Amino acid sequence: MDGIRNIVILTGAGISAESGLRTFRADDGLWEDHRVEDVASPEGFRRDPELVQRFYDARRANVMAAEPNAAHRALGRLDDAWDGELLIVTQNIDDLHERGGAGRLLHMHGEALSAWCLACGARHRWTGTLLDEPPCPTCGEAELRPDIVWFGEMPYGMDRIFAAIACADLFVSIGTSGAVYPAAGFVQQAKSAGARTLELNLEHSQGSHWFDESRLGAASALVPAWVEEMLR
Ligand SMILES: [Zn+2]
Repeated sequence: MDGIRNIVILTGAGISAESGLRTFRADDGLWEDHRVEDVASPEGFRRDPELVQRFYDARRANVMAAEPNAAHRALGRLDDAWDGELLIVTQNIDDLHERGGAGRLLHMHGEALSAWCLACGARHRWTGTLLDEPPCPTCGEAELRPDIVWFGEMPYGMDRIFAAIACADLFVSIGTSGAVYPAAGFVQQAKSAGARTLELNLEHSQGSHWFDESRLGAASALVPAWVEEMLR
């Protein structure tokens, strides 16, 4: 693709599904057999903190047991080799992009391996459990919650994301259903900013008509092939 210098890549559940990680399904609102409002909302956490902590303790353990796949590693290669601006915005809470070698990365929905202290605001990398109410390493209070953006909360890094999209020559959406806002609106912003838009997905997403090109198939096949094209 000629004339491409600045790239914004949005990734979603489809890229981690091939590493065995499941996220919530928009069609029935269930996440690992839990209702999303029970395990992914501030109200759910207030109602039953033990259920929520146990849920994310299990997600954290799953993430640590999973391995990045060929799509994560290809994006790591692109990040390493690309001279222009690049930002990978992920809706995923796992660290498979990091372990696949990506550094220019923003977790807009938080991270499974991070704990956020409601007493002092500190964030800590967390690989253990929170159900047992461990003390915050900064302030000592037992007020740690999963560092996850729940429904009704503001996604992280929106200013940085919009700034990157405004300068993007190419916007690529990988493995995302196009159903969850605000991420579902990024392609429209990218198009109005003049970027080319490309979708790599298992099936057409809800916003497919916004994309100049859609390639359908598994991320582990489509993403390495696209990265090869970009680095050629
Ligand atoms: Zn604290």
